[in-house]
Amino acid sequence: MRWEEVAAEAVALGFAACGVAPVADLRKEGERLDAWLESGKEAGMAYMARNREKRRNPELLVEGARSVVVTLTNYYAPALAVSPEVPVVARYAYGRDYHGAVKERLFQLFAFLREREDRRLRGRVFVDSAPVFEREWARRAGLGWIGRNTLLIHPRWGSFCFVGVIVSDFEPESYSEPWTAGRCGTCHRCVDACPTGALKPYSVDANKCVSYNTIERKEPIPEEVRVKMGNRFFGCDACQEVCPWNRRAVPHCDAAFRPNEWLRRMTREDWMRLDEATFQERFSDSPLLRPGLPHLQSILSGK
Ligand code: SF4
Ligand code: SF4
Repeated sequence: MRWEEVAAEAVALGFAACGVAPVADLRKEGERLDAWLESGKEAGMAYMARNREKRRNPELLVEGARSVVVTLTNYYAPALAVSPEVPVVARYAYGRDYHGAVKERLFQLFAFLREREDRRLRGRVFVDSAPVFEREWARRAGLGWIGRNTLLIHPRWGSFCFVGVIVSDFEPESYSEPWTAGRCGTCHRCVDACPTGALKPYSVDANKCVSYNTIERKEPIPEEVRVKMGNRFFGCDACQEVCPWNRRAVPHCDAAFRPNEWLRRMTREDWMRLDEATFQERFSDSPLLRPGLPHLQSILSGK
């Protein structure tokens, strides 16, 4: 099967784009990750230092792996909060938790490969859930370039996309062409727009990043970050909102990521009054469930 046939099926399943790259040892990306970790920019994400060999070499994730099928899922939506009183949440978090939704489609795509190619194909699907250099695989699969904001930018869909991969022993008749040159040019908007100075070209310091601090950090947020966060309380889209390649982004119409109406309407006061049972009921399949209500309320209260 040619890679174009895989991509056509992926689009039929609801993915925005798809490409297929041959398996390779990502030595250079591994060295970059080592340097990033040595400089302490991973903050509390100790998991980034684990399984570095597996991250570099997909054959350690799936024995005999031959290809990496990479998919993009568009989650772009224009500003969603109904008023300035509503605390700001990163766009990806408005719908249901993307891990499950994207994985379901990846399993369907893999089932198609097995059906059409060989029922004995072996593979695994990953969505931000394993040591995989997803963005580099997306670049190698021809889905765009890695921008100064460190994100994968697709020339049509921009950067508001989830990257999902299938690592398997599937060997297509042809692979998609890798994207070799970036199109950031002399633009510097993302770096200039970063509210905390966390972003340097092609590198994020998680210690200062609003996304890391509001979503993953277990300890209280440092004062120097807090004072620059503005009204954000879960994630940050600043380095994507200013990107000229996102001006062409098309709002998704994907039922899986229909915005949670409570998130669009609840003010800071509503959040502070919310009890655990109501939180569980309103956000049962939301990415906000994982950090939990006490964490979200502590961010909003500035503690
Ligand atoms: S997510 Fe926000 S804080 Fe983090 S690098 Fe981007 S602009 Fe800066
Ligand atoms: S804002 Fe400019 S420099 Fe940053 S990723 Fe977009 S095009 Fe590249």
